[in-house]
Amino acid sequence: MGLIVQKFGGSSVANAERVMNVAKIVTDTYKQGNDVVVVVSAQGDTTDDLIAKAKEINTNATKREMDMLLASGEQISIALLAMAIQSLGFPVISLLGWQAGFSTNSVYSAARIKKVNTDRLKMELGNKKIVVVAGFQGLNDKEDITTLGRGGSDTSAVAIACALQADKCQIFTDVDGVYTADPRKVKNAKKLSEITYDEMLELATLGAQVLNNRSVEMAKKYNIALEVISSLNPIPGTIVKEVAKMEKMLVRGVTKDTDVARISIVGLTDVPGIAFKIFSKLAANNINVDIILQSVGRNNTKDIAFTVSKDNAPVAIEALRALPFVDEDLPIECDTDVAKVSVVGAGMETHPGTAS
Ligand code: ADP
Ligand code: ASP
Ligand code: MG
Repeated sequence: MGLIVQKFGGSSVANAERVMNVAKIVTDTYKQGNDVVVVVSAQGDTTDDLIAKAKEINTNATKREMDMLLASGEQISIALLAMAIQSLGFPVISLLGWQAGFSTNSVYSAARIKKVNTDRLKMELGNKKIVVVAGFQGLNDKEDITTLGRGGSDTSAVAIACALQADKCQIFTDVDGVYTADPRKVKNAKKLSEITYDEMLELATLGAQVLNNRSVEMAKKYNIALEVISSLNPIPGTIVKEVAKMEKMLVRGVTKDTDVARISIVGLTDVPGIAFKIFSKLAANNINVDIILQSVGRNNTKDIAFTVSKDNAPVAIEALRALPFVDEDLPIECDTDVAKVSVVGAGMETHPGTAS
């Protein structure tokens, strides 16, 4: 008996039957005498569909309005799940991110959680309700809706688990645990019964979407053990924690990330500090730069190439063009036909690299 946070991703609540299946898992946990907070994502491909809807109207919409739109996907899920739980005869309440106390900074579409005010959550739990919370969203200082970035519901769940000092945080998904590679793509990938935060963080950061990297970072910081588990197949999943049993494997996992654009600035005048200026400018625009390559200087010029997510490429190019030393006719190349393949090893260095 204790306090359990259970998170269900989009595929786990994709249709009425799946929502009822989740209601059954949640109420079984409650029946065992636990307090239960449930975090859900938008159903199936809803978030992608909402992005497509926005693009039909305005390909350049502000991120504020995008967040306003995207947060609606999770609103549908919490209401439907609460209704499903009611139909099974259990006390339940659904809460949007802000109602559940999520304050974030104002970086729309990639907001960071500043605080979870647990008053409302504690009050509802005190009234013996199952609390269903919309993942992926919060409220900024201006009282505007923000979202945490794709896959952000994992982080919402971990944040609640930390704030309430939960006994368990279970991440239910459509695979039965963390594998050495994406089990949908690599048939002989091996399931790991345990993995350390650091290894999981590497896998997640390098493209294994099974857990969002920020959620792993937060779980490590607050020492919350995570269990990645299937919502459809009731077998033990993978535990993510500080120290894990080492299975005898040199390579812990392999990831592939295709959400990559490689931007190259060719023929920059080679003066000291130029790379610093470029990367500061990108940082000021909240662009995460990943792999960086700098050519050796020749004829007083050099090339700088780096990777960003595909989404960020147009903003990155615009930011670079605004730099005084990037002339209009200086070539900036953008290649989106690349992927990043990374090998994560137990105790080894990571060697990411891009390939066309
Ligand atoms: P959810 O909707 O539940 O959040 P996601 O689609 O975000 O689920 O994450 C689950 C998916 O992550 C799986 O369907 C699987 O294809 C993919 N995946 C990628 N790498 C791995 C890995 N190393 N282990 C397990 N799943 C992985
Ligand atoms: N619905 C959001 C997304 O598709 C958040 C999540 O699934 O965690 O990215
Ligand atoms: Mg996910």
